[in-house]
Amino acid sequence: MSASPIEAIKAKIDIAEEIGQVVRLQKSGKALKGLCPFHNERTPSFYVFPEAQTFRCFGCNEGGDVFSFVQKQQGLEFRDTLHYLAEKAGVTVEDTPGRDPEEERERSALKERLRKLNEDALLWFHQALLRSKEASEARAYVQSRGISSESVLAFSLGYAPESWDGLSRYLLTQGYTERELVQGGLAREREGAIATEGGNGIYDYFRNRLIFPIRDTRGRVIGFGGRALGDGKPKYLNSPQTPLFEKNTVLYAIDMARDAIKQAGQVVIVEGYVDAVIAHQYGTRQTVACIGSAITEKHIQQLKKLTKQVTLALDPDAAGSAATEHGIQEALKGFDKTVVAVPLAGNATTQRRSKNGPASRGMIMLEEQVDAEINVLQLPLGEDPDEVIRRDFSLWLYAVSHPLPLIDYYFVVKTEDLNLREPHGKTEAAKRLLPVIGMMSDRIKRDAYMRKLATMISIDERTLYEELQRVLRNQKTQGVTAAFVDSKTQKQARVGTQETREPTWLNDGKEGNDGGRGGKGEESYTQSTTVTNSTVPYVSIDKSKADKLQWEDYLIGLLLQNPGLSPYVCGIIHDGDFAGTDTRELYHILNVLYQRGSSPSYQSLEQFVPVELQSAVARVQQSVESRSPLDGVGQVKAAVQCATRLKRTRLVQLNTELQYLLREAVDSGDRAGIQQLQQQLIEVHQQLRTIDSATHLQG
Ligand SMILES: [Zn+2]
Repeated sequence: MSASPIEAIKAKIDIAEEIGQVVRLQKSGKALKGLCPFHNERTPSFYVFPEAQTFRCFGCNEGGDVFSFVQKQQGLEFRDTLHYLAEKAGVTVEDTPGRDPEEERERSALKERLRKLNEDALLWFHQALLRSKEASEARAYVQSRGISSESVLAFSLGYAPESWDGLSRYLLTQGYTERELVQGGLAREREGAIATEGGNGIYDYFRNRLIFPIRDTRGRVIGFGGRALGDGKPKYLNSPQTPLFEKNTVLYAIDMARDAIKQAGQVVIVEGYVDAVIAHQYGTRQTVACIGSAITEKHIQQLKKLTKQVTLALDPDAAGSAATEHGIQEALKGFDKTVVAVPLAGNATTQRRSKNGPASRGMIMLEEQVDAEINVLQLPLGEDPDEVIRRDFSLWLYAVSHPLPLIDYYFVVKTEDLNLREPHGKTEAAKRLLPVIGMMSDRIKRDAYMRKLATMISIDERTLYEELQRVLRNQKTQGVTAAFVDSKTQKQARVGTQETREPTWLNDGKEGNDGGRGGKGEESYTQSTTVTNSTVPYVSIDKSKADKLQWEDYLIGLLLQNPGLSPYVCGIIHDGDFAGTDTRELYHILNVLYQRGSSPSYQSLEQFVPVELQSAVARVQQSVESRSPLDGVGQVKAAVQCATRLKRTRLVQLNTELQYLLREAVDSGDRAGIQQLQQQLIEVHQQLRTIDSATHLQG
């Protein structure tokens, strides 16, 4: 069996080299350290471990392999990360198994050609705006909208003249074919005319328009937006769908906003190109524009990688309001139903407070919780963002930093047309708002909004709660409680071939020097400032790594077989706990699907899993099929057990890393560092103990 492309890439790309391109790393023993690119810090807590080919920030807890790093740092989808790294490593990734490789090559050659075409077109448009005589109206328009000449250059704004084939003729002289121009969305075929080489079968797609080049996150031109000058229709015309330009995913200015979004911890989404340009020009560079009228889930998925604070700044006119409402629904789909774990007593803080209260340890409660804050920017009625910015920038800045929480916005919008003093208005308000409130998983927040609604329509809170219960019953179950199962049944539940490998479960500690169980007690953590010549292995790829990966396969296989297992598992682990790159991504996809409420049966799953991961899917399915079948209860037990193993492995690894750093800190006499690391070790140790006592309950 040949190695997967992921393994091939990992073999060829050195994580230290890859990270070294964006983070200044300095040697620190066998590790490297630098300032974390994912959070703001002055002293380095970001480490790269070349031997294990992993990284971890001990400040913000980001960590993983080279895939996780690139994905997070560049804000890419897994698939794009795979192709990006494959290209760098010179590894071929089969794009679509079964598809003709020749066809595949042609397709990527076409894309490459169209990128070049776009670059040439951009230059031509841009020069036209800067120099051509016909562009005077366009230049006047640019000025009237307050766009500075710096912005014109920074955004490479352009002009498409009125003439029918100015751009086409130019591009044909540059060696492009008519067919390519049409494929690239820069020209249209003349009615009835057959495009013949050298013929006159095409005309320009954009005419008499101000041109806004649209780039992808990596800054490559993928299409154009054109605003009509004069009374041309439609007012805004975007590139048609092309191999490069996928309308529903494009965010204008994302390339220029990306870093600012991460820095500001917020993204502001506006509707118009000019709004975005002006926002950048005045310094709110965390702004992007959505192309077309609606925000789609694909937009949100991209942005979610950069920030969890999404501020919608959409035009407050009628169309804008509809778009906002739709945008909000899309946003909710992407964000709202992420399951977040709330370990009750297993939580380190609780333990610190009451060392003798182990009663509910091992109980894990999962709760759906909003994973991002979605806010709506409140602007003066009838004013576009760019107008507000130019008229009163401080007003804009205030609005950006004090947006209205989504639910409050709903309260305003949903009741605007109602008379809340009349019975009908009250009933209607409750009818419209209760489902929204019901979606909130945070009970404290939910109660607050229930009070708000009760006050707003002057109705007894209790009555309102009864009504809410009715609404909730019709909505999806909000929370799931998963208890670790009791010891005897657990043993029986151990599955098929698992039995033979069972000892690894307990061996984890020894391999990784966890110290969390057995002879090595807490002392070995807290006093390990003196452990300079211990036998603690340097952070290394675990000897039983293959074994661990098999557990990951098995867990994913179980989840594929029964998506209903998700809530039992996601309270214990998260994406970052997986050591396998493909299992991590599959887990991520399954979680998203589960939270979205779609059940990934074998058939539909294939729509969501990138083709590059299909072989991994087959592998994990095999992993389950090779074991004896389980009933529902057995599946839950097996899944919980796998997840706990995974978590433990991760913690043990973390412990090893911290021990290593601690020795470094001791060697260099870094007192503050020592203290910090010791604290972190204690926390890891406590988490390990929580897991171990839970496992102990199982037997
Ligand atoms: Zn960090």
